[in-house]
Amino acid sequence: MNGRLAGKRAVVVGGGIGGLATALRLRKAGAQVVLLEKNDTVGGKVAERRAGGFRWDLGPSLFTMPQILDRLFADLGERREDYLTLQPLSPTCRYRWADGYQFDENEFFWSRPDSARLLRHAEGLYNLSAPAFLESAPSELGAKMINPRLLPLLRHLPAMSPLQSLASASRRFYQDPHLRQFLQRFATYNGSDPELTPATFAVIPYVQARFGGWFIHGGIRRLAEALLSLAQKHGVAIRTRAEVATIDASGVTLTNGGKFSSDLVFHNGDVLRAYRQMVLHPKAGAMAEKMAKPQRAISGFVVLLGVKGKDPALHHHNIFFSDNYPLEFRQMFREKRPADNPTIYLCLSARTQPGDAPPNHDNYFLLVNAPAETESIDWAGESPAYADRIIRILDEKFLPGLSKRIVHKEWFSPADFEARDAVVGGSLYGWASHGMIPSFLRPPIRSPLLKNLYFVGGTTHPGGGLPLVLLSAEIAVRLASKK
Ligand SMILES: Cc1cc2nc3c(=O)[nH]c(=O)nc-3n(C[C@H](O)[C@H](O)[C@H](O)COP(=O)(O)OP(=O)(O)OC[C@H]3O[C@@H](n4cnc5c(N)ncnc54)[C@H](O)[C@@H]3O)c2cc1C
Repeated sequence: MNGRLAGKRAVVVGGGIGGLATALRLRKAGAQVVLLEKNDTVGGKVAERRAGGFRWDLGPSLFTMPQILDRLFADLGERREDYLTLQPLSPTCRYRWADGYQFDENEFFWSRPDSARLLRHAEGLYNLSAPAFLESAPSELGAKMINPRLLPLLRHLPAMSPLQSLASASRRFYQDPHLRQFLQRFATYNGSDPELTPATFAVIPYVQARFGGWFIHGGIRRLAEALLSLAQKHGVAIRTRAEVATIDASGVTLTNGGKFSSDLVFHNGDVLRAYRQMVLHPKAGAMAEKMAKPQRAISGFVVLLGVKGKDPALHHHNIFFSDNYPLEFRQMFREKRPADNPTIYLCLSARTQPGDAPPNHDNYFLLVNAPAETESIDWAGESPAYADRIIRILDEKFLPGLSKRIVHKEWFSPADFEARDAVVGGSLYGWASHGMIPSFLRPPIRSPLLKNLYFVGGTTHPGGGLPLVLLSAEIAVRLASKK
């Protein structure tokens, strides 16, 4: 292949979506690429589970900004439609409260005067920040920030100032406390507390409203499989059950002692874990210590249920809000324990794809936020009771009779995420967006310690979530190609 990295040898450590996209972009740039994945299969958090005739997506269930995925395919000379079928969902989500209030997030909701005003400001901010923040590394910012065409957009900054919180913006845009809680929930898209997350993150609901919420036919796991078959087609050498123990200036060493020499290394795992345990450099320990100071983003506790019967009040995506949001975040972030009364997300992919459950059954994927704590919490001991607590909340407040209709039950705790994905504390998104610096200056893609080392994925810039990890791959390969 001819490209700016022709003749270079590159190793990608980890086959999450960010790692797979990086490997593909490196091939496009002409490098010889080996991808090393510690687990039996690639995909990382994009996993699925099948049991008793049910299928559940075990990680992400809502796909947004499909244009970023389409760009990856197009850059490789491929058509996304040949590999994956995407379906927009409407409503994107149904939101419910125990007092009986509920609404559907759809075009009608977004055209209400208060929501429309929110979207106007968020759109301005998105147009201002996307090229400079989402699509670039902070080191590339300069020229993009002084583009005079962006100046008129600065008027949107006061409404969603990074110096104010998303919670305070919610009070400015909505009178109704339910709708304030709805807006605050978008802080959890990157694992954060809405009282501490900059108001600028109101661009997240804009992205959802503007670009839609999508389902991938067959389940989101098909995304990982599509990128894997593309990687094989485009000549990426894939090695599974290959765990990297150390990274140095000459390449990587596996836990079994095997070595891969390379000019470039792209680490798709947790940046904090890499500096703590893998990067061989005299300053790595000090760097890890500094990085460990800001709060980590929350983890998740998942309950998978097979349920007899189909409740007509449920949609594909559903949220059941707690009645005390600040308490929920205080318990997770300050008291470092699972919330007593968590907000519960329920995904029923069988509503869009009936084959995901046996006839007259539904596949409940329940997710609650949970502290990224695996040192002080005995998840193996606590999980059965916590799963039952979540089911009880639904049964008592929202879905009477649910517990009697369960035919299959299992759970997945932060400790399971930590073990499977090698992420510190089971955190799903690396660092919480609490304050300006952790929000906008995440650990850099290009390592300041080793010249050959780059990071990609949810713990580096620009952050967690499928579209953002695809963007990190784009930025990382661009930075490596410029050297
Ligand atoms: C329950 C849940 C729900 C989510 N919901 C959504 C959603 O609805 N929408 C959305 O957009 N995002 C969602 N996300 C976030 C999204 O899944 C992640 O941001 C994204 O998948 C992370 O991709 P990544 O490239 O960072 O890699 P990861 O998925 O973290 O994968 C990293 C890979 O590296 C491997 N690895 C790590 N260390 C090593 C090593 N030393 N040697 C070899 N291999 C190694 C791991 O085994 C893993 O396969 C959710 C995540 C979870 C867990």
